[in-house]
Amino acid sequence: MHTQKYSSATKSISTKLLVLLGPPGAGKGTLADQIAAEYNIPQISTGELLRLHVRRKTVLGTRARTRADRGLLVGDDLVCDMVARRITEPDCARGATLDGFPRTIGQAKWLDRYLDKYYREHVPFIVLKLNVEEEELFRRLSARRLCSSCGRAYNILVRPPNTADACDFDGEKLITRRDDAQDLIHKRIRVYQQETLPVANYYRDKGQLREINGNAPVHSVAAETMRILQDASFPQRQRQCR
Ligand code: AMP
Repeated sequence: MHTQKYSSATKSISTKLLVLLGPPGAGKGTLADQIAAEYNIPQISTGELLRLHVRRKTVLGTRARTRADRGLLVGDDLVCDMVARRITEPDCARGATLDGFPRTIGQAKWLDRYLDKYYREHVPFIVLKLNVEEEELFRRLSARRLCSSCGRAYNILVRPPNTADACDFDGEKLITRRDDAQDLIHKRIRVYQQETLPVANYYRDKGQLREINGNAPVHSVAAETMRILQDASFPQRQRQCR
């Protein structure tokens, strides 16, 4: 996947957590890829993890699918368990970008408790919120395609595959996500407004929120993000002993 570099060296940093908030189609996944390349920390996308479970037909996947296919959020317990398991994998030792998590106040409070319980040291923690006009969200989501096998994302307008309808990586067929149907896009935006905007307010009150104009071109959003990450003195979380 194409990523633009913003400095010559990949930064070596201690554990760092970034949370990306924004409505569906805001560009969180694209930005997480760029942050991964720049800071050498993986992206944890709860949506992608859930879709992986669905493709593998796990019990969790079956439970998640009925909600996700209706444009609704999956239960907090299920999603938090999944994040707890993923975040302890070795590649997250130096940090991670949480893409699409937390999405409810319950999940945000769970994350606070989790970090307090399991991290001894200060963890730089910052929340970036991408603000995008609704009309633009529709334009982007209508052009989104996914590989039916590996789940890689494409946008037929701005990031098309080399061969129409086929994944560059494995050649498998590209599909439209079920929840990218027009009526479900509406519904997911409403769910975002009801459930996730309060999460943004929660972090704003704690002084941890930074906002970015996500209507801008991809490279501008990335440049602004890197500037924020480099310049901001991240609020430090006081760790308790295990
Ligand atoms: P996404 O790929 O982020 O758009 O997520 C796709 C779908 O997965 C959402 O519409 C939800 O049904 C589910 N999902 C992803 N992340 C979460 C989360 N943090 N909490 C609850 N449901 C989620």
